[in-house]
Amino acid sequence: MIRLENVTKKYGSKIAVDGVSFSIKEGSIITLIGPSGCGKTTTLRLIAGLERPDSGKVYLNGKPASSPRKILDPCKRNIGMVFQDLALWPHMTIRQNVAFPLNGTKADSHERAAQADEMLRTVNLHGREKQYPRELSGGEQQRVALARALVLKPRILLFDEPLANLDSLLKREIIDMLLELHRKLQFTLVYVTHNQEEFSRIADKVILMRSGRIEQEGALEQLKKEPRTDFVRRFLDVD
Ligand code: ADP
Ligand code: MG
Repeated sequence: MIRLENVTKKYGSKIAVDGVSFSIKEGSIITLIGPSGCGKTTTLRLIAGLERPDSGKVYLNGKPASSPRKILDPCKRNIGMVFQDLALWPHMTIRQNVAFPLNGTKADSHERAAQADEMLRTVNLHGREKQYPRELSGGEQQRVALARALVLKPRILLFDEPLANLDSLLKREIIDMLLELHRKLQFTLVYVTHNQEEFSRIADKVILMRSGRIEQEGALEQLKKEPRTDFVRRFLDVD
């Protein structure tokens, strides 16, 4: 579903992603982990088409989506994203926020509202449609962002540490909801975090990055059992 082939991305002389290759199967969950600054967000932005690789290629669904010369429009990638800052529009109601991605579709305003409301029910926010983001708690705002990311029924969902500021209980609640939505909708999920609690709960397969490169990838249990380097050992808190 997603394949990176030797992808490099520089910002000036700083190499943010350095010759990274991996592939992710359709419908699976990958957790991209590593310390702050190791290149996780840049990798997600490369998948989303928000960054152009300096070398290498990104394939989606077997077709080339990004190369140094050619970039498939992010809107045409069928990808939903939830960022750390959520980026909800404060002047729009919850329903308007969730319906926003539908503006480019053929659906009329009634259909758009109906689809937004259906997504809001799915994330247990039925009845909150006419409120504004500031009237909702942090966890509820997360669920609005999740509903908005899923309203177009994307085949890929990218999650960039949006739960960083929530307490443990809320984190767990949202992760459980996300996993349930994944079972129901079967999208491919790439979940980025540096937080042990989060990746322990989500992780199936993890890709651990360090300074723009992949340090080790595999099942989390496998990495814990056989950390290839001291860095992996330390990052996963293995004694
Ligand atoms: P992570 O998400 O793992 O914290 P990032 O992908 O955001 O890491 O950043 C990787 C490296 O690239 C960091 O050193 C960061 O400072 C640098 N970087 C990221 N975005 C930019 C940018 N727009 N301009 C310059 N440097 C950047
Ligand atoms: Mg980041």
